[in-house]
Amino acid sequence: MKKDETQKKGHEDTHSHSYLPIHNSVTDFYIHVPLCVKKCHYCNFTSFHSTDNRISQYLSGIEKELAGFKPKNTPRTLHVGGGTPNILRGKNAVSFISCLQNAELTHPAEEFAVELNPELVDRDYVRFLTLEGVTRLSLGVQSLNEKKLRFLGRIHDSDTAVEAFKSCRASHAKSVSVDFIFALPKEDEKTLRKDLENILSLSPDHVSAYALTIENGCRLFDDLQKNRFKPPEDDKFLSLFTLTGKILKDAGYERYETSNFRKYFSARSVHNSHVWSGKNYLGFGPASVSRIGNIRSKNVTDLLLYSKGKIITESEEVTEQQRRLEILMTGLRTKGGIRLGVFSNFERNKIEGLIEKKLISVTKTRCLVTEEGVPLVDEITALLSTMI
Ligand code: SF4
Repeated sequence: MKKDETQKKGHEDTHSHSYLPIHNSVTDFYIHVPLCVKKCHYCNFTSFHSTDNRISQYLSGIEKELAGFKPKNTPRTLHVGGGTPNILRGKNAVSFISCLQNAELTHPAEEFAVELNPELVDRDYVRFLTLEGVTRLSLGVQSLNEKKLRFLGRIHDSDTAVEAFKSCRASHAKSVSVDFIFALPKEDEKTLRKDLENILSLSPDHVSAYALTIENGCRLFDDLQKNRFKPPEDDKFLSLFTLTGKILKDAGYERYETSNFRKYFSARSVHNSHVWSGKNYLGFGPASVSRIGNIRSKNVTDLLLYSKGKIITESEEVTEQQRRLEILMTGLRTKGGIRLGVFSNFERNKIEGLIEKKLISVTKTRCLVTEEGVPLVDEITALLSTMI
């Protein structure tokens, strides 16, 4: 999102979220753990190579940031993401969870989710998490094909991922989700089908299926610049995208967001569903993002500053139009679509062609992208954004 310079506040505040007196209205919370064993080749997120020192810095910072924080209303969701949250093990895991407990965040009414990477999962660990209240485990499997895993630079192999999944299943978690990445260079329909069917044979409750994107700042981006591989052509990409949706649908998974599929209604990510629908959320941890009303803020990325309690949150005011654009972009990716009220000048004639081709559907009150339109959701969003 481009910042509107005239609206940008850009103030800094070293006090944990005190700049947001209205945070009392928030019931969806996010904790960011930007630490990983090793950087994956496709990763351009904020994540630091974990060392004992950085783990200590992280814990020291999160303790300071959460000190004295209490949600006014019972939280509805708590999502711990990364990074690799399960890098916090043993006494570090106990300290981390106790920070969350002290802040009264660990008993949300609807969901307490934790993202995990397979290399650091075992039965005792996930049992510990679920005994502390975690209800949803989201496992970064990505693939069970060794070649794909190596290309992506993942440090786990397929056996480790399967064992990790079984550990999650054996815990008290209500649901277990897996991540899947497809549309790698040279991936064909046969490879994709075998990989996804192997994953589905584990019977996850939910699958997040993302096409590989290669953005500036990751190792694959440099390799791409050096012509070390070619991403799939558009028609191949479309074929793989469509096949992924079909395999999941045939296996009984419902697409409720462009990249997210649930086996039954309550297997959805409640936290993400709330965020996609435009609800306020408050993030903690280095580089975490919050959005409350028309204020969007981001915590400091520097781990050393963070560890010293210098949260130095940047915040900016988003315009009404930017908000509506965000709602359009996230809402169109969801099954329910968006309210027509989001548009400031909705002109049906501009999208008649899309309606005739059954790529979007417009009711009296809502506009949504159909299953046929899903592969073109970005193009459809670009067209509709002209009416915001
Ligand atoms: S595990 Fe996730 S956050 Fe960590 S390096 Fe890999 S892609 Fe990035």
